Amino acid sequence: MRISAILIALSLWGGLALAPAKQDGPVYVVEAGDSLFSIAQIFGTTVEELAEANQIEDPSAIFPGQALLIPGYEGLGGTLEFNPVRYGETLSSLALRYGQPKDQLGRLNRVLNPQRLYSGQPFVFPERIGGMPTSQRITSLHGQSMFELSSELGMDSWVLAHGNGIEGRRWLVPGELVYAPGDQSATTALPPEFGTVTLTPDRATQGRTLSVQLESPNEITGRLGDRQLKVIATGEGLALALQGVHALEEPGLVELELVVDDGMRYSQPLLIRDGGYGQEYLQVPPETLDPANTEPEDQLIASVVSQVTPEKLWEGTFAYPSTYFETFPSFFGTRRSYNGSDFIYYHTGLDLFGSSSTPVLAPAIGRVALSEFLTVRGNVTYIDHGWGVYTGYLHQSESLVKPGDIVEPGQTIGYMGGTGRVTGPHLHWEVWVGGVPVDPVEWTLAEFP
Ligand SMILES: [Zn+2]
Repeated sequence: MRISAILIALSLWGGLALAPAKQDGPVYVVEAGDSLFSIAQIFGTTVEELAEANQIEDPSAIFPGQALLIPGYEGLGGTLEFNPVRYGETLSSLALRYGQPKDQLGRLNRVLNPQRLYSGQPFVFPERIGGMPTSQRITSLHGQSMFELSSELGMDSWVLAHGNGIEGRRWLVPGELVYAPGDQSATTALPPEFGTVTLTPDRATQGRTLSVQLESPNEITGRLGDRQLKVIATGEGLALALQGVHALEEPGLVELELVVDDGMRYSQPLLIRDGGYGQEYLQVPPETLDPANTEPEDQLIASVVSQVTPEKLWEGTFAYPSTYFETFPSFFGTRRSYNGSDFIYYHTGLDLFGSSSTPVLAPAIGRVALSEFLTVRGNVTYIDHGWGVYTGYLHQSESLVKPGDIVEPGQTIGYMGGTGRVTGPHLHWEVWVGGVPVDPVEWTLAEFP
């Protein structure tokens, strides 16, 4: 009886040992447009190695949806996905979130400096297997061992070491930051004083709005590049900054710095993507390009739109300021050459078709901030919607509102026209966010914040 039990155990063991060895490594699912060459480049391998690992005879014969084993990443598992890095994330916090060794993740993404990942960076993530879904940062005490810290946290010391990429170490350096499971809603490397920071969208674009939502017990200020964020308290422990990214901002990295009221700082580069704007040549009366005319006007508008009303007056998305919005004479962001100049100008609004009898409609609730005649802009109206959001209506033949008036969505505030620097009657519609003009179309499509 005892002998047969041992035999059964042996045969089970033998069966397991003899099962065909499953090749180790992560899997990438082929997408439309991929080639073995492009995949090999992403993962730092070669077409030959990829073909061999996947027993592919014809390297051109791959298809979308096909699962490819990526050689050279033994120890990594699961399916690889691309996602942008979020603000506050470092290689350590990502390793923890995805339950993968830090050095492997770094190698997979060819990270040279683990502390300088940028927000919006395309990052290859293995599908999370047993990672810590949420985390907290813990500062180790003097003379604390991994074993002591893990038993204090009630967790396996290997899991703690693995998640932090410090396998094989028994002692922590005093003051060393370690990630452990916790109840913070976001897994980031942001010091706890900052709370949770959420950027929407997670990748910023020239001429578009960036929403920075802050959930912190502390008062936080910040800046994006040279621009100070206009942070507004929106509730108990909640704050928000809406910031337009300038349409001429160089695509690339810009620092997003946050400062807690006691002076503690956190800074991480943010990726600004190209807005893909076109070009156009225009002829206009020369006096409308004269800095003697344009500069005082620009300063006047800047002084109006830089004021921040702490109440949010608008609701939902913006309506178009005209009943006709199927086609447009000119889009926001277009690089412009006036009278043969270089493309040093750009279009700060969206142009809508109309004649001098076409009504101009308020897109949302707001308070009229400015309504007067200007040389370049003609008859203008600027509406304050609160939280640093303004809309502007240029070249009108007539304005029907005055500063201080409250306007309702759909209310006729004036008539289109051809006053100021124009080539014909139309409405030039602007949306300003945090003192910067942004594409009005995005405000008709998406709700901010
Ligand atoms: Zn225009």
